[in-house]
Amino acid sequence: MKTYKIAVLPGDGIGPEIMKAAQTVLDAVSRKFNVEFNYTEADVGGVAIEKHGTALPKETVKICENSDAILFGAVGDPRYDDLPPEKKIEPVALLGLRKHFDLFANLRPSFLYPFLYRTSPLKESIVKEGFDILIVRELTSDAYFGKKVLKEDMGSDEMLYRKPEVERIAKTAFEAARKRKKYVTCVDKSNVLSSSILFRRTVTEVAKKYPDVKLDYLFIDNATTMIIKRPKDFDVMVTTNMFGDILSDEAAMLSGSLGMLPSASINEKGFGMYEPAGGSAPKMAGKNTANPIAQILSAALMLRHSFKMEKEAQAIESAVQKTLHKYRTKDIMEEGMEQVGTKEMGEKIAENIGR
Ligand code: NAD
Repeated sequence: MKTYKIAVLPGDGIGPEIMKAAQTVLDAVSRKFNVEFNYTEADVGGVAIEKHGTALPKETVKICENSDAILFGAVGDPRYDDLPPEKKIEPVALLGLRKHFDLFANLRPSFLYPFLYRTSPLKESIVKEGFDILIVRELTSDAYFGKKVLKEDMGSDEMLYRKPEVERIAKTAFEAARKRKKYVTCVDKSNVLSSSILFRRTVTEVAKKYPDVKLDYLFIDNATTMIIKRPKDFDVMVTTNMFGDILSDEAAMLSGSLGMLPSASINEKGFGMYEPAGGSAPKMAGKNTANPIAQILSAALMLRHSFKMEKEAQAIESAVQKTLHKYRTKDIMEEGMEQVGTKEMGEKIAENIGR
């Protein structure tokens, strides 16, 4: 039996609950498809500060290095909100893992199943047929990783892109588009920023190798309005780190709940970290009300991208859709549906994987 080693990093807030639900579903996949998942749990985030004095302990990084993929929950703990910038949970844990494993490509799907259109904050006329956008966000450069200066009376973050960094994210976007509707929109701010001029120029160059894929361009300010006005028209959107951060959260909200959407952060070798689009939602923690579907679909992305298990990934995605026709967590509850908790949603989806 083939065995895969998974580093399981539940983190803070709702992280442990949604992670358990995802493991329930992975266990069902393991039984049905005769494959073994070997989980090693490690601390990250506030829980790691409490136990080890840092949001990303060395032991955790070691466990990730010795695994085939990382399944990540969420980090963020209000008790540590006032830490100085260099110790803050998100930069240390998330940016730390992204940099360490060179996870340069962030795939952030934002989709709305047509049968869930009422959960979207958008008008029925815009979302009745659903939508399916894949945001491909560069994840290891830009202002988040550039030189930083913070003084009493000034602060700056260098926004730097080098051509190879843009080439590889562009390639990721075009390859993804080939498996979808063959349409890429390059999102940047090339009317103002030099780093964006390089980004757009390089994406255009890479596009020449993909004549079967259509390429369009939007400035980020326009893109944020267009995905509200006509989300159905987009397929793959490729963008820089900071613009992708904002655009992907906006796109996520269009689907109704942050609890629905997964994400994958992948390096050139196919190693990846898979996590929900949302954060640790501390107010929901421990109440068995969080939606685990983002975490469960993140596990499906892990099977697809890091383990090349396409049919198993699809089995999870189909089971999620099937389950949603009857059961809902609080965030996406509608009349005529049965409301269930985090744990129960995991169990229902696992049942729908079948034997
Ligand atoms: P959040 O994503 O935790 O919550 C935003 C909203 O989405 C809340 O209303 C929450 O109730 C809802 N939500 C999120 N996940 C949900 C789920 N699974 N089911 C149902 N509803 C869900 O963002 P926030 O409130 O801005 O941040 C909370 C903490 O999370 C902060 O400490 C922040 O730094 C951290 N954070 C972490 C990550 C990450 O780990 N990748 C991402 C974003 C924010």
